[in-house]
Amino acid sequence: MRGKAEKVIKLLEAEYPDEVKTSLHWNTSLDLLVATILSAQSTDKQINKVTEVLFKKYHTAADYAYTPREQLEEDIRSSGFYKRKAKYIQEICSILVEEYDGEVPASMEGLTKLKGVARKTANIVLGNAFGIVEGIAVDTHVMRLSKRLGFTEQKNRDKIERDLMEIIPRDKWLPLNYLLIAHGRKVCNARKPDCDHCILNKICPAAFAFPHNKSQ
Ligand code: SF4
Repeated sequence: MRGKAEKVIKLLEAEYPDEVKTSLHWNTSLDLLVATILSAQSTDKQINKVTEVLFKKYHTAADYAYTPREQLEEDIRSSGFYKRKAKYIQEICSILVEEYDGEVPASMEGLTKLKGVARKTANIVLGNAFGIVEGIAVDTHVMRLSKRLGFTEQKNRDKIERDLMEIIPRDKWLPLNYLLIAHGRKVCNARKPDCDHCILNKICPAAFAFPHNKSQ
């Protein structure tokens, strides 16, 4: 399986040479943590529009923690689910102020202790902001493609991540997320994967399992 995984990565790297890191815009680790929280159930493009204005106003964890909740909600309204996200951001930033001197912890343990921060977000922040790669960020694209490609049969994100870490070389853990997202968006989407035109169709066990694909 390792050999197959390496082949998949090689093909995806050739197809998407620029997809090696997050497309969210950020300057500081705090920016990236906030942007990653905001990106849930939204698109990076939309979040970049929101943060272009947001990051000019909020520079520190204290800025987020102590601004009136309604104001923060208003400032992130177009990210979707803005009430829940504002609550998370304020809770997390309050802990950063109280326990971490306002800094984002540069460890998996520290990040995942923050309420609402799961391994997916922690992997993104650690890998992109600190150059620390401890795992593989598993989002919906990574879940779907990993199953279709036969890399896992698990449904739970953490278990999928463990399966992937077994077969993916460590130096590819960070880019894997972005390569699979790119391919998931462009070709292997949830409802209508375009197996006919997919560069992985010779090695993917799910190739042509979808009725709309004509080639068999
Ligand atoms: S062959 Fe089809 S199912 Fe497999 S990765 Fe490509 S588009 Fe997805």
